[in-house]
Amino acid sequence: MTIENNVERSVFDEVMVPCYNPMEMIPVKGEGSRVWDQQGNEYIDFAGGIAVSCLGHCHPAMVSALTEQAQKLWHLSNVMTNEPALRLAKKLTEVSFAEKVFFANSGAEANEAALKLARRYAADTFGPEKSEIIAFKQGFHGRTFFTVTVGGQAAYSDGFGPKPGDVTHLPYNDVEALKAHISDRTCAVMMEPLQGEGGIISPTDEFAQTVRELCDKHNALLVFDEVQTGNGRTGHFYAYQGLGVTPDILSTAKSLGGGFPIGAMLTTTKLAAHMKVGTHGSTYGGNPLACAVAQAVVDVVSQPETLQGVAEREALFRQGLAKINDKYHIFSEVRGKGLLLGAVLNEQWQGRARDVLVAAGEQGLMVLVAGVNVVRFTPSLVIDKRDIEQGLEKLDQAIASLVASNA
Ligand SMILES: *Cc1c(COP(=O)(O)O)cnc(C)c1O
Repeated sequence: MTIENNVERSVFDEVMVPCYNPMEMIPVKGEGSRVWDQQGNEYIDFAGGIAVSCLGHCHPAMVSALTEQAQKLWHLSNVMTNEPALRLAKKLTEVSFAEKVFFANSGAEANEAALKLARRYAADTFGPEKSEIIAFKQGFHGRTFFTVTVGGQAAYSDGFGPKPGDVTHLPYNDVEALKAHISDRTCAVMMEPLQGEGGIISPTDEFAQTVRELCDKHNALLVFDEVQTGNGRTGHFYAYQGLGVTPDILSTAKSLGGGFPIGAMLTTTKLAAHMKVGTHGSTYGGNPLACAVAQAVVDVVSQPETLQGVAEREALFRQGLAKINDKYHIFSEVRGKGLLLGAVLNEQWQGRARDVLVAAGEQGLMVLVAGVNVVRFTPSLVIDKRDIEQGLEKLDQAIASLVASNA
């Protein structure tokens, strides 16, 4: 028996670093919002690879962009530029406030670039004293040491020795706490314009506007981490467009590549000028394959029909989840925006989000959690409406089985 022919879940425990706890089944094929495992079992995908597969699996536009580019040119490094990177950058400046784009390979790297730019700009413009980064509790910005430190969950950032300094965490949506703390020493405020990993928490309008005003007052940069909210997820191309608050720097990844690794930091010409030759870089950043796929994704997602379709699908999810809740009384609320939705477990179901995930898996449905009390849905933005219906039926059955085993 050679390992090439026979890989199963136990091989994970044998040869993989154990920082994940993957499900038992191993998916081998996907199409649209359907996925099949090694045994041929079919799943409906409400997880979308954690808000990544925004056009579902193997969308024809992505497959053709990838295969066409694969015949032409794979990699150059940033010693040269390339056509797909230039086209994608231009497109991103057309669909957002951005005038300048820096490419990376992940969300964490896009945020790392954002934080370094913010620090460099403040140091160049105002001097070394202006280095404080304000971020928010429960926030998530990635797993590099700087980004995990700026993220607001000690469980992820502690136990690795001394952290990058001068990072302050305040409660999200707390206008008074921010007013009381921000000062001329603040270099940047970094936030998600809807907290994803932290439990699907939307900012209040007042909070979003106040953050912008206070940043302006104190010459601090506003950095929006749109790694999860970006690329159509909330029904706007970027979530800031629905908030009416424009950041100075925006990071994007996840859905940007639709399943191919890419990230980007977007900013203005004025700020970008502080990233001079040699100040930052990435070997793979702006890779032609990644940029060709991302351009195909952005072309489809930025169409008004696609964005309009997100709102229609959100309504279907909300109706279906309300119906399930009428039957089983398991959720206290459904929150979030567009296809970044969280069903919050009520008092009786505290801590059991993972039970719902596992029960759903047994019914052939893939969902996510956001913390221990929120079941999270981040499906494809173009998920077939029948798949939504059938997936919700499976969720109904999964919850019915949990209720039955509780009784
Ligand atoms: C997923 C996520 C990241 C990290 O992205 P990676 O590609 O895993 O590095 C950063 N910020 C937010 C808001 C995310 O949801």
